[in-house]
Amino acid sequence: MSTFRQRALDEAAAHTTERFFVEKRPVSAYFGENVFDLAKMRKYMSQSAYEAVQSAVRFGKTIDRSVANEIASAMKTWAIERGATHYTHLFQPLTGTTAEKHEAFVTVKDGQVFERFSGSALVQQEPDASSFPNGGLRNTFEARGYSAWDPNSPVFILDETLCIPSVFVSYTGEALDMKVPNLRSIQALSAAATSVAGLFDPSVSSVSVNVGLEQEYFLVDESLYNARPDLKLCDRTVIGHTSAKDQQLSDHYFGAIPSRVEAFMKDFETEAYKLGIQLQTRHNEVAPNQFECAPVFCEATKAIDQNMLLMILMPKVAEKHHLKVIFHEKPFDGINGSGKHCNWSMQTNTGVNLLSPGKTPTKNLQFLAFYSSVVRAVYRHNHLLMTSVCTLNNSYRLGGHEAPPAVMSIFSGSTVSKIFEGILNMKDTLDSEAGKASIQMVSSIPEILQDNTDRNRTSPFAFTGNRFEFRAVGSSANAAGATYVLNSIVAESLNDFKAEVDALEAAGESRQGAVLSTVRKFISESKNVMFEGNGYSKEWEEESARRGLKAVRNVPESYKVYTEKETVDMFNKLGVLSPVESEARYEVLNETYVKKLQIEARIIGDVCLNHVIPAAVGYQNILVKSIQGCKDVFGDEFRSLCKADMDTYKKISNFVNNISADVEALVEARKKANKVEDMAERAYLYSTEVKAEMDKVRYSADHLEMLVDDELWPLPKYRELLFF
Ligand code: ADP
Ligand code: MG
Repeated sequence: MSTFRQRALDEAAAHTTERFFVEKRPVSAYFGENVFDLAKMRKYMSQSAYEAVQSAVRFGKTIDRSVANEIASAMKTWAIERGATHYTHLFQPLTGTTAEKHEAFVTVKDGQVFERFSGSALVQQEPDASSFPNGGLRNTFEARGYSAWDPNSPVFILDETLCIPSVFVSYTGEALDMKVPNLRSIQALSAAATSVAGLFDPSVSSVSVNVGLEQEYFLVDESLYNARPDLKLCDRTVIGHTSAKDQQLSDHYFGAIPSRVEAFMKDFETEAYKLGIQLQTRHNEVAPNQFECAPVFCEATKAIDQNMLLMILMPKVAEKHHLKVIFHEKPFDGINGSGKHCNWSMQTNTGVNLLSPGKTPTKNLQFLAFYSSVVRAVYRHNHLLMTSVCTLNNSYRLGGHEAPPAVMSIFSGSTVSKIFEGILNMKDTLDSEAGKASIQMVSSIPEILQDNTDRNRTSPFAFTGNRFEFRAVGSSANAAGATYVLNSIVAESLNDFKAEVDALEAAGESRQGAVLSTVRKFISESKNVMFEGNGYSKEWEEESARRGLKAVRNVPESYKVYTEKETVDMFNKLGVLSPVESEARYEVLNETYVKKLQIEARIIGDVCLNHVIPAAVGYQNILVKSIQGCKDVFGDEFRSLCKADMDTYKKISNFVNNISADVEALVEARKKANKVEDMAERAYLYSTEVKAEMDKVRYSADHLEMLVDDELWPLPKYRELLFF
């Protein structure tokens, strides 16, 4: 057999099940031990330094330099006690991943050796920012950027390095990362939600956003992964014939976890617990070798930071197990891709979940106020919200048979839907009779709603009893990209809700009446986004278009929504993104799209020319020798005797010639696109012409995989990659 693949298969077969991070202590004894949390801060810091951190977290107050020195010193003492030698700011640039630059604590001065970590090093670090994507912000403003500690997220130790969760901004304050707009959007949403919650309970002084991120991923044996240049460079297979058996039998879903995988899961969970990540569930997903884990939800910034940390941690632990974690949204054609379901809700400082119907009519009215504001937000910005999850990677997954379609809709479940139907059917003016009737209806929302909400797995945005589940988010994405959009659009609608109620009250309407008619107005203008049926169906595709919901059919084209006046104004008004920042992000999205597809296009060309065609020609040589031999022995009879071999030879020739021509066309398509200056136009050409050529190449390559002798095929096949 082709030695490269054979060696990989042999190595893979030799990989055993082992545990590397075994803890004898109960989880409660080590949970969070690598995090500098509140309890440790109290222990290591003076009262005043501790309070400075607290007010930075709660009220966004800046920490002054002298206090920063004390905080840094406390962190250093704790970190060194735990064996740390380095520190780094950990930030989230527009690449969508994380970035770090380690600096040693150790300093030698005048022959003296000591560990140093100053307040200024804690507060600010200056990595060379020039290589991160910035969408032209650097040209317009400062060439340099810096990372700054985000005290919302605690520092922690990973691999003997003190990691400091940070924002990344330009010298003139423009956001160069994913975290800043998210922090700003949480502030905007908190302010808007607090003012609406205040209509029902004046004691509410702040609202936080809660997020719980379910993480889907694939695991592939490291040796097999390394034998696939496409997986190695793109985290995705650009060719590969489907396996005879994959997920048809649904026998993987929730099945017994393979022991090698379970050992890996236990190991990364142990390490995650030490980092204060409260992982709750683990299970097999639908596709073979696809799995999921989910932590308990928490405040949005922390939830997203912890998810990013998990995406650092899992591959590190996987290395020990000779496994590769694939976070890509669609690593394998023909089977399910992976998502990162974003469960999202809002909670008051008094502990009330604003998306949970309550026991009293007032609480239910409050629930309806918030629910209808979310519905209106999603309706108004349905295209923007859908686009917020659209990347090249996710475009391979969305709209497939397994993932939400690339058009936004909200699934509410029968209980909530019925309530809204009732409200919509009320008489035009809220006279006292109708008012009374509707209040009665509102008060009868069953308390058990939480438990009896029906599930609709085909909806991209589903209400699940006390939260919304945004299911279209991609598995490899930084969830901040979706949440800052969601937070912002909901903040906008809540602000409008409050203004509407204020105006009605000023006109003499009662509070209840004003709230109810605003709920009604919001639902009535946005009802087109509410859909309870099968989101995967053909009918919905047509129906959603009739309803004016805009599907994402082409990713670069849909990115234009970021430049539309409505979007730019909204972000600007809420203080989430300035128009310049919006423009920069638009640029980066297109640029990233182009670069990723360019890499895939190169890889498919390389793999086909250097691996597939040589294997195919090698097999043709064997065939032709056999045909020749047959002719030598049997004379003219060889025509009938070797019919199958000759047919195969011809079929192979046909596919080889096609690949060769199509790869050339692919290179030309790339060249043509690369000549286009405008990044959005270039991305569009990539998404149409370059992609179309790639599909043609793949078609021939996958057919060759079925024709060529298995012994000669150089790349691990789907059936080998997908089953432990
Ligand atoms: P399922 O697959 O049934 O949706 P999971 O248990 O896999 O359920 O994931 C549900 C996620 O939703 C968890 O992270 C959970 O903590 C989170 N979650 C639960 N309640 C809320 C809430 N009120 N706000 C945000 N997230 C929540
Ligand atoms: Mg879920």
